[in-house]
Amino acid sequence: MANDSGKKIFIIDDDKFLLDMYSLKFNKAGYDVKTADSTEEALKTIRDGYEPEIVLCDIVMPGLDGLDMVGAIRKEKLISKSVIIMLTNQGASEDIAKAQKLSVDGYIVKATTIPSEVLTEVEKITKSKKV
Ligand SMILES: [Mg+2]
Repeated sequence: MANDSGKKIFIIDDDKFLLDMYSLKFNKAGYDVKTADSTEEALKTIRDGYEPEIVLCDIVMPGLDGLDMVGAIRKEKLISKSVIIMLTNQGASEDIAKAQKLSVDGYIVKATTIPSEVLTEVEKITKSKKV
């Protein structure tokens, strides 16, 4: 979508195949894509000053999981203007509750959502937040 072109999106997932797939999808749609395959790398990038408009983050990852990473972001008051969307294959209500507690902006279950739908979902969530 033209009005979303150039928007910075940070995609974090330990699954490199998915990371490439989503990266390609958002790149083609005109986004300025940055990726990280671990929460450790992602946190470092954010602490170093990277401020994406959108963060698309997997939950189940080795080490610090996606929700714990968002917890650290909140605690350190980093990227407070970014729209944070959790991307996971777990539809566990426990995760959704935890995500809501962290004031996450959206939640996409990737097992039931193909990449083009993920793009559509992200745009829908982003639009509702008027980024
Ligand atoms: Mg994962």
